[in-house]
Amino acid sequence: MGLTRAQIEALLDENRNHHCEGLGPDRVCVRIEAIAQLPSRFGQFQIVAFYNNRDNKEHVALIHGNILEAKDVPVRIHSECLTGDVLGSLRCDCRDQLESALRMIGQMERGVLLYMRQEGRGIGLINKIRAYALQEQGLDTVEANLALGFRDDEREYSVAAHMLLSLHIQSIRLITNNPNKINDLARYGIKVSGRIPHIMPPNEHNRFYLETKALKSGHLIDTFGQAHLPEQADPPMVEGMDEEVLAIIRKYYK
Ligand SMILES: [Zn+2]
Ligand SMILES: [Zn+2]
Repeated sequence: MGLTRAQIEALLDENRNHHCEGLGPDRVCVRIEAIAQLPSRFGQFQIVAFYNNRDNKEHVALIHGNILEAKDVPVRIHSECLTGDVLGSLRCDCRDQLESALRMIGQMERGVLLYMRQEGRGIGLINKIRAYALQEQGLDTVEANLALGFRDDEREYSVAAHMLLSLHIQSIRLITNNPNKINDLARYGIKVSGRIPHIMPPNEHNRFYLETKALKSGHLIDTFGQAHLPEQADPPMVEGMDEEVLAIIRKYYK
């Protein structure tokens, strides 16, 4: 049971002329522009498309169940990764994280996945590919990241926070392995009532994280010797990982 037709109409009405002073130093404001059903392989969802006043990105929320005025709503924030999410790249674990979050939410009473169109957490696709190329030339992931400047995490959280406020969500339980994210959202007025660890089931694609022997000098290296850029601000945790690997991953993702 998602949002009813009447609730959808009311949300669209309310957003038609929405202007507020905005969140954060960038005065970020978003508006719900369209809502539709989105049945998927992960369950029954509705998709909410947002306009925002800062970038020309069309961020979306995938909602499952009725989240209007609800408390303790499980929420996952995912940063777009074209190479991983769509093209199935094994240089990162974005697709595993996305699919397992959608699967989890699809089986819950209600939940939301915010899909933020901020490739590589804001560095952009071209810069991300540049970083891959720099790694191939021998720079490690840290150096490659430094060469590309900083990520725009602040923007990500102010837009995400406003999206949750626009959906009238009273409080959330953040699906994350990174407790710092809670403060990032709370800063923008989101009530975070708890955290749900995001532990992915093992599969043939994320198995490389389980291969302790492949972990060298604090960097995640896959079986082909390629380092991985931490594109999601969340350490990957796969069922069956041992403590030693988890410790290395936590350090690597800070
Ligand atoms: Zn606003
Ligand atoms: Zn990725």
